[in-house]
Amino acid sequence: MKIIIIGAGQGGLSAAYGLAKGGHDVVVYEARKEDELIYDWHDDVNCKVFKDLKIPVPDESEYFLKNYWSFNGPFSDRWVKVIQDPEKLDWSMERRPLSRILTARAREAGAVIKFETPVEKLVFGEESVKGATVYGEDILAALVIDSSGVFSKFRASLPASFGIAKQPGKEDVFEVYRAFYNMKPDTKTPSLHTNKAYLKHLGRNGISWCIADPSGQVNVLVGTVGELTDKDFAAAMEHLKKDNDFLGDILLRGGSICNIPVRYPITKMVADGYALIGDAAFMTIPMLGSGIASSIYAGDILAEVVNRKNSARAADLWEYQCKFMRKLGAVHVAVDVLKRWMLTADNDDVRYLMESGIVSENDMKYVSVGEMLVLKPVDLIKKLLIGWKKLPLLLTLNKVLMKGKKGYKLAMKIPVTYKPAKVAAWERKLNGLFETKR
Ligand SMILES: Cc1cc2nc3c(=O)[nH]c(=O)nc-3n(C[C@H](O)[C@H](O)[C@H](O)COP(=O)(O)OP(=O)(O)OC[C@H]3O[C@@H](n4cnc5c(N)ncnc54)[C@H](O)[C@@H]3O)c2cc1C
Repeated sequence: MKIIIIGAGQGGLSAAYGLAKGGHDVVVYEARKEDELIYDWHDDVNCKVFKDLKIPVPDESEYFLKNYWSFNGPFSDRWVKVIQDPEKLDWSMERRPLSRILTARAREAGAVIKFETPVEKLVFGEESVKGATVYGEDILAALVIDSSGVFSKFRASLPASFGIAKQPGKEDVFEVYRAFYNMKPDTKTPSLHTNKAYLKHLGRNGISWCIADPSGQVNVLVGTVGELTDKDFAAAMEHLKKDNDFLGDILLRGGSICNIPVRYPITKMVADGYALIGDAAFMTIPMLGSGIASSIYAGDILAEVVNRKNSARAADLWEYQCKFMRKLGAVHVAVDVLKRWMLTADNDDVRYLMESGIVSENDMKYVSVGEMLVLKPVDLIKKLLIGWKKLPLLLTLNKVLMKGKKGYKLAMKIPVTYKPAKVAAWERKLNGLFETKR
């Protein structure tokens, strides 16, 4: 089949590799230059995806192990240090070498990658996608994979009859400033907490972090769900500098504002001749915005399904969505329930939960890698013993976790076969879980 992929992000490149290996005629169109792909900095990726999918590992100079985080609650100076289990370790990895590896792998498999070639629009048939327009020319294809990011204009252009959500809600996107600064001379890197994440920093609906990198640079992030205002940004930076005397003023890398989806996956990611992947399908972990591994896994799943079925009909592509939901998406639903509660919760309550130890180091181990937090009866008793004076808060937290579990089960009940009425009923139920709280 002829397959067009829009965007050479991790999802697009992973799908390109698998589909080209399956013998399809794959062309990836990417708006940017080859050496300016994605971001000029490093981000965390669970190392498991490299082993699982046999992806070559970048050179050792291009990543380092990130095995712990320290978290605090709003306006708190008590830090909870979470040392991660070895099998869940993240590699902090330079983005561009990672993109080079994924690009080379896709090319070796036979995919053609055209950089500096923006796709203008989709070409529609009757109730299907038939191709894409590039430099004014309509290029027909059996399948168009939309890997163009969170605000995909292609997804937004789909006719309403496709039943695919056009844009994420304002509260579904994390607006984030990311930069690397110098480490001030004559200051010492703190020995205890070098990777600090401030939850609901200064009471804002978002997080900040300040990390003393092994390279000697200081990695800063300030993000808000919704809009990051100049005032909030200035206050956050001022506080980070006060709290981390090693944070210098010289901007070394980054310094830009980006957007990350932080919600459960889109509930319909396929149509006849069309499939969404990566940020365009909101595949990031809602609490963290990590989407590199999810997108790479999704590319692998999509390619496996298309190769086996040799079809681009929605009814066949649906298996891709089912498999993604069951592997990762259903957990993201549960995590999103917890995230939404955290954002609306009272700052004092969040601080209390963190400072009292009710949210334990072990709980944060799950939360910090985007896993579902399930409390055993013994954990509940321990939490009750600590926080019995704040029983209503504990009951609310428990209710939120139960709701997350319900969302997970609902997501796992995704219809196995593509029957539009059944799919629509499942979508209504899943989306309804979130609508009631908004
Ligand atoms: C500041 C920040 C920090 C992050 N940290 C982490 C982290 O630590 N760990 C993690 O796992 N994830 C992290 N993420 C999220 C991660 O970047 C994304 O989830 C992941 O990159 C998604 O990949 P994707 O395949 O959806 O492609 P995207 O990265 O969304 O790329 C889309 C591509 O499509 C191209 N494109 C867009 N429009 C067109 C067009 N019209 N024609 C052709 N090409 C087009 C773009 O140029 C781009 O290359 C972070 C994101 C940000 C912004």
